Formats: sequence, structure tokens, C-alpha cells
Amino acid sequence: MLADLHCHSTASDGALTPQALVARAVERGVSLLALTDHDTLDGLPAARTACAEHDLAWVSGVELSCNWNGVTVHVLGYDFALDAAPLTRLLDELREGRWQRAEEIARRLERKGMPDAFAGAQAIQQRQGESRNAPARPHFADFLVQQGYVRDRSEAFRKWLGAGKIGDVKQHWPSLEQGVATLREAKAWVSLAHPMHYELTRSKRYKLISAFVEAGGQALEVVNGRQEDTQIGQLAIQCREFGLLASAGSDFHAPCPWSELGVMKPLPQDLNCLHERFSSKV
Ligand code: MN
Ligand code: MN
Ligand code: MN
Repeated sequence: MLADLHCHSTASDGALTPQALVARAVERGVSLLALTDHDTLDGLPAARTACAEHDLAWVSGVELSCNWNGVTVHVLGYDFALDAAPLTRLLDELREGRWQRAEEIARRLERKGMPDAFAGAQAIQQRQGESRNAPARPHFADFLVQQGYVRDRSEAFRKWLGAGKIGDVKQHWPSLEQGVATLREAKAWVSLAHPMHYELTRSKRYKLISAFVEAGGQALEVVNGRQEDTQIGQLAIQCREFGLLASAGSDFHAPCPWSELGVMKPLPQDLNCLHERFSSKV
């Protein structure tokens, strides 16, 4: 069975609609799919319907941003009910926060002589797909390119939107403890996404995993796309040490040479796989 438990659609920062994503997963031979958009469940009903049409096993998913000691970390939740109140309440609050953030970004750009960024970014976002979410920095970047303020997206981030620039408005995330607790209340299985991607020292990473387990986390994402074997090995050791389940996913965002649905390194064989908990759905 090829299980891909990590990917994104136009409901967050992915390039494909949930329908197109599911069709592509089928073409790539995926047999169990979880769509895990950032901080939203908006793509899930369409993904579920499309999976049913293609006879592809489906499990609900989300990638939740959380704050741990000032570091933004990502937590994956699976197999919850789409109307699970603790989770939908938290996501509604985050959505509201993102609208305020987008307005603040636009205000700051206007002060620098770049007016109407809010409407402009929103128009670009809506062209990519219907969304209830606020425009985010990539949409603002495209707007700045469109208006000729910068040459390309990377210049937009370098000059205006990247870390430490005026458009880098911090978003308030739930704490790791709150995020994991909310997912567990929603009866989700919880996996810590790509633990090697946070630029932490080995001992800090160990502390993060400890805090995650303490909070109620059950799995580590041991394989994230085409991650290096040495990293997979290190995470496998942590899985065994903490007695955690292992999850794997492509973290697919858009068709490109280095990322594809269903394409990821295999999980070390002795680990207990999270996706086996969903095998009743296959
Ligand atoms: Mn993303
Ligand atoms: Mn992530
Ligand atoms: Mn992701």
C-alpha cells in the first residue's frame, strides 16, 4: 500500500485543487491519501468526495502551525470528524487572525507608497481558487510583481515580505501544547511534521519531541518527501526511543521536479506505521 499522509491543495498553499490533487494521486499509484492543508479543513469535503469517486482510501488531515519556545512547528492531525468542535473553533480563530494580519501587511505597504495591496492580493488569490482565507505573503508578492514594484517573487520577499522586512507581520499560533491537545480532543491521531526542518540542534530537537509526547503526540513524521537517509535514520531512533508511531508523506505542494505525490523514501521496516491505524479505510 502506498500511503501519502502529507500534501497541500489550493485550500492553503498548494497549486492544485483538491479534485486535481486526488486525480494526480490516483495516477501516481497512491492508495491512501490525507490532504493536510495548513490550518484549514476547507479542502477536505471536496477531497473526500473525489477520493470516493476514484475509489481511493481517504483519511481527514490538517497541518497545524504551533509555537514552541518561539519556534513555529507543524503538527499533523488525522482521522478526525470534519465538524469536531474543538478543532473547528481553533481554526476559525486562526482564520480571523490571518485576516487581521493581511490588513496589517497592506497598511504597511501602503505607507511605503504601494497602495491597494489588500484588494490586489485578494484578486490574485481568488484567481487561483475560491478561498475563505485571507491573502498570504505569496499573494502579496505576486501583487508587487504585477504592479511593477519588484521584478519577481524573490525580490518581493527580499525587499518587503521576508523575515525581518516590513511585510513580515507575525501570526499568533497556538502553543504546541494547545495545538496537540485540541487535536486529541477532536479524536485525531497526531504526528509531529518534519522534525528535521526546524533548524534545531540535536538536543533542542530532543526537547521538542519530549514536549510533543508530553502534550499527547503519538507519531513522528519520519519520512517527508525525498528526505535524506541519515535524517530518516535519526528520526527512526527517536521513534523507537519514545515508542512513537511513524508517519510518511510527500509534502507535495505543486508539480515540480523534486516533489511528487506518493514519492518518498520508504519507512524503516521495524517501525509501527501510523497509516496502518487507518487500514480499515482501505
Ligand atoms: Mn506549505
Ligand atoms: Mn510543514
Ligand atoms: Mn506541509
